[in-house]
Amino acid sequence: MIYFDNAATTKPCEESVKAVCEALKTNWSNPSSLHSLGLKAERTVSLSREIIAKSLDADSECIYFTSGATESNNLAIFSTVKTLGRHKKKIVTTAIEHPSVSQPIKYLEENGFEVVYVTPNKSGEINSADIISAVDGNTCLVTCQLVNNETGYILPVAKAYKAIKRLYPKVITHCDCVQGFMKMNVKASSLNADLISISGHKIYAPKGVGALYVKKGVRVLPVNFGGGQEKGIRSGTEAVPNIAGFGAAVDVLLNSIDERYEKMCEISSYLCKQTETVDGVTINKFSESSPYIASVTVDNIKSETLLHYLEQKGIYVSSGSACSKGKKSDVLKAFGYDDKTLDSTIRLSFSHENQKSEIDEFVKQVKNAQAELVKIK
Ligand code: PMP
Repeated sequence: MIYFDNAATTKPCEESVKAVCEALKTNWSNPSSLHSLGLKAERTVSLSREIIAKSLDADSECIYFTSGATESNNLAIFSTVKTLGRHKKKIVTTAIEHPSVSQPIKYLEENGFEVVYVTPNKSGEINSADIISAVDGNTCLVTCQLVNNETGYILPVAKAYKAIKRLYPKVITHCDCVQGFMKMNVKASSLNADLISISGHKIYAPKGVGALYVKKGVRVLPVNFGGGQEKGIRSGTEAVPNIAGFGAAVDVLLNSIDERYEKMCEISSYLCKQTETVDGVTINKFSESSPYIASVTVDNIKSETLLHYLEQKGIYVSSGSACSKGKKSDVLKAFGYDDKTLDSTIRLSFSHENQKSEIDEFVKQVKNAQAELVKIK
């Protein structure tokens, strides 16, 4: 099997699986229980919190566990609207956000908020100046992702947020860091974000766990109510096994981000080199992009057809993003892809386990597909 769908999800690493199993078997108590078993579970949660805080160069009290980045994004957005949105009715975002950001924002737009969607320019890139100039005194929230999940494009978040914080210190800056976390060096302070969303299953931890970083001094209000866990911000018994697995996965990556990044650069450059001379194949490039994600257009073959063709050959890719499930991607449209390109673009997303030989096999099978598949009119 050649797995090129790591932006959709990753295979949990050994260390993470071990931590999950251990917690399930021997550490299954409720971390809120006052007895020693509860204390043991609480210690596990605390340890993971410390590891995740360290990865962002933050204090552990700034980390709130959630069920994943979808929940973190919703919490960040609706909490901000609760704290500031009564008087400030404007939100600035981009046209290329993941649905877990774009859908809550759409809901708010339908319910009285003015939303500015900053759109990529002709080169498919977003200027920090466009984000900055969209913000004004009536803005409660700016929310931009760090790395686009469909193309790998890296947005100028740190630069934009630095200027925004200088001009409007009270505006809440939120960043969906899911596709950048533990893949690039993301530090809370250099990102200038008040709130940061991260997810476990994109970094070799289990599904169903994520976190929201909240900068010290930033007020967050809960959007669900219950037992008051996570300092009242996210009620619900903590998913100790998942949290243990999350911490274990981050711990493995802590000292190897740069090394893995280098390897990904080699893999993605190799893909570019090997496809350079293949007619009808384009790697869609940006001035800043994550080597973990490649957007590949194969002319005249529908992306879903190619996806299933490759699957038969044991190669797993994605058409757009896993979340868009075959629907034409609004995000790729916003990037300026024309209809024909939209229909023929797949996403490859890598992990450290991928090898150049797998790229060779991919290129070989794409050439076979070009020879075999019926062309769209
Ligand atoms: N944001 C981005 C950029 C993503 O790629 C994803 C996952 N596809 C999410 C948010 C949602 O993360 P989760 O699956 O943890 O809810």
